[in-house]
Amino acid sequence: MIRVLFATSEVYPLVKTGGLADVSASLPEALCRLQYDVQILLPGYPAAIKAAREAGSRQKSRFRVGQYEVSLWQTRLPGTAVTLWLVDCPPLFERAGNPYQNEKGQDWWDNAHRFELFGKVGAMMAVGEAGLGWRPDLVHCNDWQTGLIPVFLEHYPNRPGTVFTIHNLAYQGLFPHETFRSLGLPDSLWNMHQLEFYGQLSFIKGGLVFSDRITTVSPGYAQEIQTPEFGNGLDGVLRQRQQYLTGILNGIDTRVWNPEEDPQLAFHYGADYLENKAQCRASLERELGLDVSGGPLLGFIGRLVEQKGVDWLIAVIPELLERGCQFALLGSGETVYEEALKALARQWPGQMSLTLGYDEGLSHRITAGCDIFLMPSRFEPCGLNQMYSLRYGTVPVVHAVGGLSDTVIDPQETGFGKANGFRFKDASERALLAAVDRALKHFRNRKSWRQLQRNGMVADYSWKKRARNYGDLYLDVLKERENQ
Ligand code: ADP
Repeated sequence: MIRVLFATSEVYPLVKTGGLADVSASLPEALCRLQYDVQILLPGYPAAIKAAREAGSRQKSRFRVGQYEVSLWQTRLPGTAVTLWLVDCPPLFERAGNPYQNEKGQDWWDNAHRFELFGKVGAMMAVGEAGLGWRPDLVHCNDWQTGLIPVFLEHYPNRPGTVFTIHNLAYQGLFPHETFRSLGLPDSLWNMHQLEFYGQLSFIKGGLVFSDRITTVSPGYAQEIQTPEFGNGLDGVLRQRQQYLTGILNGIDTRVWNPEEDPQLAFHYGADYLENKAQCRASLERELGLDVSGGPLLGFIGRLVEQKGVDWLIAVIPELLERGCQFALLGSGETVYEEALKALARQWPGQMSLTLGYDEGLSHRITAGCDIFLMPSRFEPCGLNQMYSLRYGTVPVVHAVGGLSDTVIDPQETGFGKANGFRFKDASERALLAAVDRALKHFRNRKSWRQLQRNGMVADYSWKKRARNYGDLYLDVLKERENQ
């Protein structure tokens, strides 16, 4: 059985700021079902330590890392059989707020130190120095927070294989040169081919340069990030490591996201009995105080940031409301977007509803109750919401980038036999509006709309096949290391 340490800075349902948490729960679980021994490593945030205590779990080992006393808790990811290790170091991780920011939304001042320590513990576990009876064949690192693990492992003889997955290249873990010095990393790493990025320390470059393989979360994004337009300054590094880079599409947890038995919904439905979707819509309208209008109900869920194309959305909402559409929006993020959306919701009561904040249950009810789901992201490494929508018969309208391109098929390209949504190519609000208009036109044609819904609902978005791709990749890495 291949043993994998899966290092991540968030995991559902314990801590989640975005899609990384979903993937960090559902991918290891799918791999465990395929008989891989995948164990997750997570910083010991308060919510995670609390869950471990409540589950009666214990600390398994205790050791020093620099000035810090660290202990490792062994527990299970709630609701699964997957082993979860927590790096308990209260001065660094026992804090309110989210994994990266305080309650005011400011980055923790010592993020570099926090995730350096996390990386060091990951590397110690990887080489059997953490006092556990378990040692992985491979470490799977995720995003910049784990970028130093392959760096620490580089010079170990018999080190395990390393895979680094990019969930979002825009977040790189950049810190000033003084931070590099204070971390005590060897000076030899300070050059543009290793950890330096235009005068700053880049955690993500550690993962990109030093790991055996790089993956990202869709084939489309794997191509895009090798171009200056989407490469965030790292396209050169990625082109250089092109032969080690692949895109594997994320799956979704089809048990959590299943309209036939979703506990967050009052009514259930499936591809062959869609009637109850209208009931979900009616109860969503009641919940959100929307008028019962019969016009198309459009939804958006996500972080209110530039990446998600929220400004384009804000620009087209008035025109769409004037045409009789309704909106259900859920998200939180930058103040300018929150304020602009609040103003629109005030201006259009009964037709537009805005929920600021994070609400897992409501996100399921919006996904089920809406007719159309909008994802006008400027870039999108994979995107999960479009797959949730597809599964729930809510037709997505998306910008044709990254994983959105890989999952949404437009009738303009294939006809209705295969199509499941609408895409627009130009990066502009006009292109978004034109795509929504096309969707609205087809919405009135019951037969073609049913076909779109059905095509989305019956497709396989589960991890089953996709996790196998990771398994194959692990095997490649291990074979290669054996031959070294
Ligand atoms: P990203 O990771 O860039 O934020 P993804 O589409 O990959 O985007 O994943 C976002 C995840 O977070 C999805 O599971 C989505 O439903 C969820 N989500 C985002 N914002 C909210 C919110 N305000 N309330 C509930 N769930 C949310």
